[in-house]
Amino acid sequence: YVAKRANTGVAMYDASRERGGAERLSLMSELRHAIDHGELRLYYQPKVDLATNAMAHVEALVRWVHPARGMVPPGEFIPFAEQTGFIRSISRWVAGEAIAQCARWHALGLELNVSINLSARDLGADLPDALDALLRRHGLDARWLWVEITESALMDDPAHAIDTLERLHRLGIRLSIDDFGTGYSSLAYLKRMPVSELKIDRSFVMGMTGDADDELIVRSTIALAHNMGLQVAAEGIEDEATLARLRALHCDIAQGYYLSRPLPADKVEGWLREWNEVVAACSQTQSG
Ligand code: C2E
Ligand code: MG
Ligand code: MG
Ligand code: MG
Repeated sequence: YVAKRANTGVAMYDASRERGGAERLSLMSELRHAIDHGELRLYYQPKVDLATNAMAHVEALVRWVHPARGMVPPGEFIPFAEQTGFIRSISRWVAGEAIAQCARWHALGLELNVSINLSARDLGADLPDALDALLRRHGLDARWLWVEITESALMDDPAHAIDTLERLHRLGIRLSIDDFGTGYSSLAYLKRMPVSELKIDRSFVMGMTGDADDELIVRSTIALAHNMGLQVAAEGIEDEATLARLRALHCDIAQGYYLSRPLPADKVEGWLREWNEVVAACSQTQSG
């Protein structure tokens, strides 16, 4: 069994490949093992408020630190986990870990919001109670927790999702629509959902300084969000020109490698301290 696992190691992480039943079972048990043995890690990517330059929000992104294969990115196991339903176990772990970490930051005086990514299959009737229980256990107020759900996951079965989303909203948890622009939103449903943020997909953001169509989509999405009374975020900002353009277009929230890569939890406090020093130095230069 061990030898067979070693032999199929590479293929096992190719999310695009069709798997047989035995292989699926093996990957599933590896994922179970990963959760039970602490092989999953959360990294946190800063989200910056462009009006104030404050960083008060991080997005939790999961990685699998595999003993043999090293760091496995989520794109290589999340789609499989979504197909098999195992995503629910992963999401439960992610929620518990992100909420616990957020509570630790608050205990240190760092009042950060934290976003977690959820999939369509997480939106069952049991989700609100599960998140509520985790928030209570760690003593974190629900208003610090955001969930990011992709546009396509939400529009998969919007009538069904709305009930769960309403209950999350009543708890005080906020909803961000991830990868906005890549799915097909029904604006009628979007209007009925308790959404706080639209997050423009990085494909448009990465293209916007070189491609007029991408820029138009970004500009229109910012206008749509603001007309609906929503906050708008841009992900995938890789350079100064894109950041400057988004600022000029009055985008509210910025996220991307140009600002910071996703960081391990213990690097967030130091990053924030340096960020605040840079912001203070810049505003002194401007006023002086
Ligand atoms: P996402 O939620 O849209 O997250 C943004 C992805 O873009 C992250 O990739 C992030 O590292 C990457 N990114 C951020 N800034 C930049 C940039 O400036 N340039 C480029 N090229 N990329 C940037 P990551 O961490 O590999 O995650 C990929 C996707 O996997 C996520 O997309 C999300 O859909 C999914 N995912 C990650 N963590 C979780 C999780 O805990 N649960 C679920 N269900 N899905 C997750
Ligand atoms: Mg996300
Ligand atoms: Mg996204
Ligand atoms: Mg994305």
